[in-house]
Amino acid sequence: MPFGADVKSLLADAAERATRYVATLDDRPVAPDDAALAALAAFDEPLPKSPQDPTATLALLDEAGSPATVASTGGRYFGFVVGGSFPIAVAANWLATAWDQNAALPVMSPVATRLHGVVTGWLVDLLGLPVGTGAVFVTGTAMANTAALAAARDQQLARVGWDVQANGLFGAPELSVVVGANAHATLVRALGVLGLGRERVVRVATDEQGRMRADRLPDALGGPTVICAQAGEVNTGAFDPFPDIVQWARERQAWVHVDGAFGLWALADPSRAHLTAGLADADSWSVDAHKWLNVPYDCGICLVRRSEDLRRSFGAAAGYLAPDASFEVMHHTPQASQRARQIEVWAVLRTLGRGGVAELVTRSCSRAEQMAAKLRSAGLEVLNEIVLNQVLVRAASDEQTVALVDAVQREGTCWCGPTLWKGRPAMRISVSGWATSEEDIENSAQAIVAAARTVGEALS
Ligand SMILES: *Cc1c(COP(=O)(O)O)cnc(C)c1O
Repeated sequence: MPFGADVKSLLADAAERATRYVATLDDRPVAPDDAALAALAAFDEPLPKSPQDPTATLALLDEAGSPATVASTGGRYFGFVVGGSFPIAVAANWLATAWDQNAALPVMSPVATRLHGVVTGWLVDLLGLPVGTGAVFVTGTAMANTAALAAARDQQLARVGWDVQANGLFGAPELSVVVGANAHATLVRALGVLGLGRERVVRVATDEQGRMRADRLPDALGGPTVICAQAGEVNTGAFDPFPDIVQWARERQAWVHVDGAFGLWALADPSRAHLTAGLADADSWSVDAHKWLNVPYDCGICLVRRSEDLRRSFGAAAGYLAPDASFEVMHHTPQASQRARQIEVWAVLRTLGRGGVAELVTRSCSRAEQMAAKLRSAGLEVLNEIVLNQVLVRAASDEQTVALVDAVQREGTCWCGPTLWKGRPAMRISVSGWATSEEDIENSAQAIVAAARTVGEALS
């Protein structure tokens, strides 16, 4: 027995338990209660000396584990920017997990390779990116940013005759890196990892929504340059002014990278065209599928206009790696072995179609507007323009805002996280899950307003 048990009954048991979990998600608090957390003690056992019954292992995982999950795949989770999972994505993931394919090379998985090609073509078409743009699937946008910026660094230095992969950065020509003041923490970390420095960057001032100010783009820069723009500021959802940024970059032969972890999906929604003008003219883009496209973790996508720029940075040589004429994933990402993340992306795109993706974006944005309107009319301050799926809220004082986030999380109807906006506490609400209904927003808004009243009375 390959699984050490009756495969059929074990997998059927898992399917039944998972189905029950999803079906009862709406009836439980979004964050686990104290009893569920205490019951995690069931895992504190010594490593068994001898083989155990896998059915009992699965039962323990479900009985102690399921109640101690955060119900982020349900309709009332608004923390961070975290999507749920479409049923078709979960189902495709199960089948693909049973296949256990290594997607590194075509010879290891023809089906993964074919779907990689199909999904790349679909994404380029759906997002309106330049024909020929290459895609690789990585753990998330943090890694997609790292991969894209490695390609950017190497291409810009190659342009002036420096081979980073052969010679490293010691003695290399200067590379200028420009970021917005509101760049995501993981993008800044990627610059550090790549030897470009977290602080050795030109930071462009941002406006009240966190957008890069085009009138503050530096004009004296020459030589190799990378500029990192953002589609979807992580608090406000704001988009940088891409037409200005792209024009600035073209004048300098600079590389434009876009962190579009959730916001890039706006390219699929014609009703967001006012935000996305110029966005497709960049050189590279990062986007998560595990956020707004609602596939299971982990799945980020790195898109690069000329896929040979990925190959320059990530080509690897070994005796057993014969060159192949087809696109070989492992020579285009920092990864070698990898699961075939494109399978769930393919399954969702095929199920939703172009119209369904556009509708997913429009719908989440409408729900964010609905939430903002409810909270505003109850006297809470909404700090951002609702251009996408993000809502930033503040109560009457900083103290009340902090207490509000805490009260909302403890009450359990929904879950919203804290953030700092312009140096002061705020509550952030992100509508990224496919399952969020108008009723979920209505119930959640009521819970937030009730919590705001309680903390208001307690603190004033
Ligand atoms: C979430 C996010 C990231 C990091 O993405 P991961 O998928 O967590 O690696 C980067 N940038 C932005 C704007 C994000 O929202």
